[in-house]
Amino acid sequence: MTTTVEPTAPPPALSTILNPGHLRLWSEADAFAAEEVAPHVARMEAAPGQVEREITDLMARRRWFALTVPRQYGGLGAGNVAKTVLIHRLARVSAASAAILQATHIPVGALLGYATHEQKMRWLPPVAEGSGLLTIAVTEPEAGGHIGGMETMAVHDGADWVLNGSKIHIGNSHLATAHLVIARTAPDGVRTSQALTAFLVEADSEGLTVQPHRPAIGLRGFSAGRLELADVRVPEDNVVGKVGQGMDIAQSSSILYGRPNLAAISLGVHDAAMESTVSFLQARHRYDGSLADIPAVHQRIGAMASRLGAARTLAYLAVHLLDQGIACDTELINAKYLGHRYAARSVQDAMELHAAQGLDGTGLLQRLLRDIQCTYAPAGTGMIQLLRLADDALGISPAPWSERLTTAAEATWARSDSDLNATPA
Ligand SMILES: Cc1cc2nc3c(=O)[nH]c(=O)nc-3n(C[C@H](O)[C@H](O)[C@H](O)COP(=O)(O)OP(=O)(O)OC[C@H]3O[C@@H](n4cnc5c(N)ncnc54)[C@H](O)[C@@H]3O)c2cc1C
Repeated sequence: MTTTVEPTAPPPALSTILNPGHLRLWSEADAFAAEEVAPHVARMEAAPGQVEREITDLMARRRWFALTVPRQYGGLGAGNVAKTVLIHRLARVSAASAAILQATHIPVGALLGYATHEQKMRWLPPVAEGSGLLTIAVTEPEAGGHIGGMETMAVHDGADWVLNGSKIHIGNSHLATAHLVIARTAPDGVRTSQALTAFLVEADSEGLTVQPHRPAIGLRGFSAGRLELADVRVPEDNVVGKVGQGMDIAQSSSILYGRPNLAAISLGVHDAAMESTVSFLQARHRYDGSLADIPAVHQRIGAMASRLGAARTLAYLAVHLLDQGIACDTELINAKYLGHRYAARSVQDAMELHAAQGLDGTGLLQRLLRDIQCTYAPAGTGMIQLLRLADDALGISPAPWSERLTTAAEATWARSDSDLNATPA
């Protein structure tokens, strides 16, 4: 059982979504994954304590971190469908490499929505070049899904802010040159929606330490580590958005960028499980044909295909709507939720259909089984997605971010244009 690397054409069902540029990207991503990533997968699996820098550099050279950065900031301005194509096709060969790629696109999205023009001019070109990757740092030891429980504090001191606290599970913690840290800036009693603020903290700031990389169950090579902030001084210019807008920044970037990114990783893992299972069953002789011909087995392949098709349609439709400026928070949330759930179920089916052949400790299925565990928690656990979907069904959701953020972005532009030297209020 080997890593799935053979390029495959996009299914015709995506033809109304994928334009010629997306199709080219699909082929490029497949070729890159086969030629540049696949040869490293065994090494990455064998060294769970290592953060993967080689593939990161290769992706940077390809300018794949530039994908969602607008052209005026040195990027490619390719949009959300393009980002999904890359993450999906990369995850089919290496979910860890796809995780590295996607993690920086979340804070990029946050900056696009809330940073001033000058801030974008400072921080986005290095991302586009691949020399200055970012993280978004929200989660804390005592505050994961419960963002209101956040304890990291930022207090004003002269012209600076001073940050203290801990952030955990921060994607690309060991690769980034700056972290978009969400911290509490209001005393107890202030509603969470107004109590948090976003700060761009340079990785070499005095008082900021990244704890040694600790491997997780899966995504070997991807670092999701712990940041310690001890009296870290951050200039006013590094406040992103307005003071008190941190909750909006965390939530909107998680919904608009985190959810679809995780859906795309799950989709790549799902593809790999499906492809390896089909080729295994077709190749395994039984009676007058192959295992795939046995009706009960045939039906299980059908169940996997059903889930994969639904997950793929949902993942691509959601980002297509986002690129079109159509309200789609619900679809983004559902794509993440079902994308993980369906992929996890199909990987389990794949394991059972491979029976003892799937138990090889160095095999593909082992890796898929471990990697798919890692798409449940990020950007909100499955339970949190269900809460948001229920809110929508009950008609009690706030206005969708996919609609609101256009307004926020326009407001940021207006502020930047009218008052170029203003520090964020
Ligand atoms: C691979 C990976 C990458 C990550 N990357 C980042 C990153 O880049 N930046 C970042 O800030 N964080 C990141 N995270 C952290 C991730 O966002 C959190 O794991 C997630 O928000 C859940 O928090 P928690 O793990 O503390 O679980 P908790 O919130 O403590 O939840 C524990 C359990 O309780 C359930 N639960 C919690 N609240 C409720 C509720 N209200 N109703 C019902 N059930 C509930 C949850 O579903 C879960 O089953 C990453 C995590 C992983 C695994």
